Order: sequence, then structure tokens, then C-alpha cells
Amino acid sequence: MVTDVVIIGGGVIGLAVARELLRLGARVRILERGSCGGEASWAGGGILSPLLPWNYPDSVTQLTQLSNRLLPGLTEILQQETGIDPEYQVSGMLVLPNMNNGQSTQFVEAESWCTRNAFPMKRIHSSEIMSKLIFGEPADKSALWLSSVAQVRSPRLLQALKRSVELSGGSIIEQTKVSGWRIGQGHVESVITDRGEYSGTNYVITAGAWSREILGRHALKLDIRPVRGQMLLFKVNPDLLGVVVLQNGFYLIPRQDGYVLAGSTTEEAGFDKSITIDARKLLLEKAHDLLPELTEKTLVRHWAGLRPGSPDNIPVINRHPAIDNLYLNSGHHRYGVTMAPGSAHLLSNMIMNNPQPFDITPYQWPV
Ligand SMILES: Cc1cc2nc3c(=O)[nH]c(=O)nc-3n(C[C@H](O)[C@H](O)[C@H](O)COP(=O)(O)OP(=O)(O)OC[C@H]3O[C@@H](n4cnc5c(N)ncnc54)[C@H](O)[C@@H]3O)c2cc1C
Repeated sequence: MVTDVVIIGGGVIGLAVARELLRLGARVRILERGSCGGEASWAGGGILSPLLPWNYPDSVTQLTQLSNRLLPGLTEILQQETGIDPEYQVSGMLVLPNMNNGQSTQFVEAESWCTRNAFPMKRIHSSEIMSKLIFGEPADKSALWLSSVAQVRSPRLLQALKRSVELSGGSIIEQTKVSGWRIGQGHVESVITDRGEYSGTNYVITAGAWSREILGRHALKLDIRPVRGQMLLFKVNPDLLGVVVLQNGFYLIPRQDGYVLAGSTTEEAGFDKSITIDARKLLLEKAHDLLPELTEKTLVRHWAGLRPGSPDNIPVINRHPAIDNLYLNSGHHRYGVTMAPGSAHLLSNMIMNNPQPFDITPYQWPV
């Protein structure tokens, strides 16, 4: 019998899960409250790595490494299948020293983590990579060059994933909000929406920051909350910046079409997605410090998105402890674009009873 899966939420995680399940022979339907890819996934910067990868638990490393192995092939196939280029590029990331404290201890940790994880890293003067940065150049080589860090253009990745799901026979039902469940004896019978009920063999929640809300009392101890992130977009000359630059948690991302993204804030503001003057001021200040040329460049857009925040950025990728056909893939916090292919692979393996590439216990549902 063909497995029929209802997926709730069409962000990068829901679309990636749908694509992977279709590839494994399942039938899928995505129910999306608005338009696919209109929330956090659209707002994301598209850096395909944790910002300082040595600061995260092994479960984040394992998942981002799996995704990083899958992403080059996935983006290439997506482009062939759909004609939409997600603009995957290995641009590298320059980590500038934290000006608030000495960084030598952190660098020792970073070096040992990079060696252990075969993650290319070199200590350099920032001017070796970027002559344009006029940040106070330290005497020693205290910037870090992470040459393997890649990026995608998130809205394009989403468009390509959506198109690929459609081309593979997946059904995408937009403007349809899930509002409840019909559950009997530890089994979902149907999902209730504002446009009727839908049923399938299995149900997957990929509703990002809203996942907990959708589950109601069935969320148990699930700890996923909205974390607002704001971002600016500048129009620049295409050759102004070639690499991602990071300092004190703020970054600049160069895009291929002559725009630079500056981000991002991490704010506890509930489900409020407004942009704020304070955040704009802060991001402008940080962006100008990092790249003074930006003071003369046009700020073309300012936006906000709600990340699915979770403890330590560890998502839940698992079956509900008490409902046998209900699954969750959510809580990717700051790194959902990065983790999407790996998370989709793990969850689809679970639903299709395929072996896993590694122990997935760290991604279980908290009870
Ligand atoms: C400013 C910012 C910068 C970021 N930068 C990066 C980065 O550089 N790299 C990186 O890897 N990650 C980044 N992220 C994080 C990343 O964007 C998220 O982790 C990721 O998008 C989460 O994807 P998702 O599919 O779980 O959630 P979402 O994209 O939010 O998708 C959830 C979907 O569920 C739908 N939904 C909600 N409720 C319902 C309902 N009741 N019924 C039906 N549908 C529903 C929503 O409409 C939405 O489309 C950034 C995020 C922000 C905000």
C-alpha cells in the first residue's frame, strides 16, 4: 500500500520533507496556511552553516554535516528539474575577532573542533581576504577563514523545492489553515482545516514557530517558540563583497546579483513579526562598522521573520510519543535552511522504515 502523508506547513522543512517522501515513493499533500515559503524560510539569510560551528552540540554538527553533503547535489538537481537556480555557492566565511574580549581561548577551541570535524579553517589577517574592511587590524592573525562555508538564495531554493514537489506529483494546498485534529486511540483520523478535513496514513507537522500551537495539548513538553529575526538588504556594486563576514554575531552576506544582506537580530517578541526602528538602527550600525562603504549604499528593504526557536538549536525529528501516525520536523531555530535536506532525509527514513545514517535519539520528542 502506498503511504499517504499529510504535511502541515510549507516552509523549507515541509517542502524538503515532501520532496524526499515523493522520491521514496509516498504520496504527499502539503496544507499551508498562507503561501509556501512565506514565513521564516523566506526571511532567512541562506548561510549554510552554523555561525560559529564549534559552539554547538554534536547533534547540530551531525545534522548540518549531513545536509552539507546533500546540498550541492540537491541544488543542482533542483535546477535541472525546475529551471530555477537556488544560487548555491561556496563563498567562504570570514570570522572577525570579537572586539569585546580576547579571542585566543576561543580560537584554540575552534581549531581543535575544526580539526576533529575535518572543517577547513585558517587563521589569517582579515586583510588577506578583504582589503575593504577597515576594522582595526590586530597585530596577530586573529581572523578565521572558513573556506568551505556555502550559501543559497533562500527564496529561490523555496521556489525550486515547491516546483519540484509539484512536478513529482505532490499536492500543495495553500490558503488552508489547520485548526484541529480528530484523534482516536492514539491515532490521527483526520486534520481539521478552515476548508474541510483531510486524512492520510501519516501526518507530519512542519509548521515552524507555530508547531507547538497547532499541537495544542498534544505538544507535551515540546519547547518551540517564535524568535524574531530582522534583516536589511542593500544595493551595492556586485564586486563590493565576495565573502560572508561575521563579527560579534552580526553578518554580511553578498548575493550574486549585487545586493548585500545584513543580519540579524534574535528577539523574544512572541508572534509579533513587525520590523522596528531600534533593530534597523542596530543593524545599520553593525553593517557600517563591518563595511564602511555601505554608508553610501541604498538600503532597499528591511524585514522580519519568526524562527522556530528551540533549546540549543536542536530540532525535533521524530514520531509523537503517544500518537502512532503523527510526526514532527521542527525547531531548527537559526539553521533551518542549512538543516533542511538532512532533517527531511531522517524523517522520511523513519516514515518509510528505512535505515538511518546515524543515531537519531537527540532529535526525539521531549515528554
Ligand atoms: C532573519 C533570519 C535569518 C535567518 N538566516 C538563516 C541562515 O542564514 N541560514 C539558515 O540555515 N537558517 C536561517 N534562518 C532560520 C531559518 O529560516 C528557519 O530555521 C527555517 O526557515 C525554519 O523553516 P520551517 O519550514 O520550519 O518554518 P517556516 O518557514 O516558518 O514554515 C512554517 C510554515 O508553516 C505554516 N503554518 C503555520 N501554521 C499553520 C497552520 N495552522 N496551518 C497550515 N500551515 C501553517 C506557515 O505559514 C509557514 O509557511 C534565519 C531566520 C531568520 C528569521
